[in-house]
Amino acid sequence: MVNSFPEISFVDLKAQQNRIRPALDRAIARVLDHGGYIMGPEVVDLEKALAIRGNIAHVLSCSNGTDALILAMMTKGVGPGDVVFVPSFTFVATAEAVAFLGAIPFFVDVRLDTFNICINSLTQAIASAQAQNLRAVGMIPVDLFGLPADYDALHLLAAQHNLWMIADAAQSFGGAYQGQPVGSLAAMTCTSFFPAKPLGGYGDGGAIFTQSQEEHDFIASCRVHGQGSHKYENVRLGMTGRLDTLQAAILLEKLTIFSDEIVQRNRIADRYTALLKDVVQTPYMPAGMISAWAQYTVRTPHRDALQESLKAAGVPTMVYYPIPLPDQVAYRHYPSVEIPVTKQLCQEVMSLPMHPYLAPDVQDYICAQVRAGCERIGTHIHPR
Ligand SMILES: *Cc1c(COP(=O)(O)O)cnc(C)c1O
Repeated sequence: MVNSFPEISFVDLKAQQNRIRPALDRAIARVLDHGGYIMGPEVVDLEKALAIRGNIAHVLSCSNGTDALILAMMTKGVGPGDVVFVPSFTFVATAEAVAFLGAIPFFVDVRLDTFNICINSLTQAIASAQAQNLRAVGMIPVDLFGLPADYDALHLLAAQHNLWMIADAAQSFGGAYQGQPVGSLAAMTCTSFFPAKPLGGYGDGGAIFTQSQEEHDFIASCRVHGQGSHKYENVRLGMTGRLDTLQAAILLEKLTIFSDEIVQRNRIADRYTALLKDVVQTPYMPAGMISAWAQYTVRTPHRDALQESLKAAGVPTMVYYPIPLPDQVAYRHYPSVEIPVTKQLCQEVMSLPMHPYLAPDVQDYICAQVRAGCERIGTHIHPR
């Protein structure tokens, strides 16, 4: 087959920009006109809009998704000796934020079908921490690739063991769990506005969602150097953790088309699944969940060969993630339970181009190349 598409984007930010460029230009010009580059009015407007979208009392924007996790954990007083359970199959920032505060990330395996934290493995990790006399304080489930974690089971387990829960929703803002939007699924939720996330800016950004006025006030102080009642009174340790006004202005414009984009992502994901479910393991969607489809990730035992064949056909793919976090040099010395599923996923996962502007003919071409590649390699799956 001839590659009739000179360039297929893995994530197409240009098509989105073309859709709203005049509004973006006006929003940026407004910030240049008023000159409030730090904590300008758009920051407050964005936080209000996010609180409505996330169905939560308070939202604080911040510098990025990693700082969001750090700021959230600062409200819990996380520090040296504290153990926080995190999945072994996630972006490094989930564990990094814990380690950065001097605490101990304890790695937990994930499920083969949802890629999210496994309740059995978590139960085992909690018991293991207890047996080692470690001080377990909390857990950070991740909504990987946009799919919410198993929050009902997680809330039960957290309550049983007196653990706090902070949701890492860096990839899932826009998703929902049993009718409730991401942002409201845990007492505290963190997200990221890195450009390639479902709601991405043109630079770094993040946000923390909380129901608690107290936590809101604490984080509001921490993100400006632990500010007290005025700018030059410092009552606690903090950081430079603010979101730029320009990014807030851009995100406000992107928010106007975000719901539609989530619908498009779901339509495209459904179409991938229909076209590919007999050749690769397509993502499993538990009942009652809406994914934000940050990634569309399939599994195949001959991943590397298939990825090579797709590359030759001009189809970009990515492997999120190739190395289990407990095997990473910087994280080897942290505790972990056995992680057979994470190890398997690191060998088998591959993400296909996914964005709201993926045209049907381009998607057809991608799927035809996946099918042709699987046929050449001689791999197929038995439907679930
Ligand atoms: C992107 C991401 C983060 C960190 O967000 P940044 O804005 O890049 O700091 C944290 N956790 C997960 C799961 C992510 O995908």
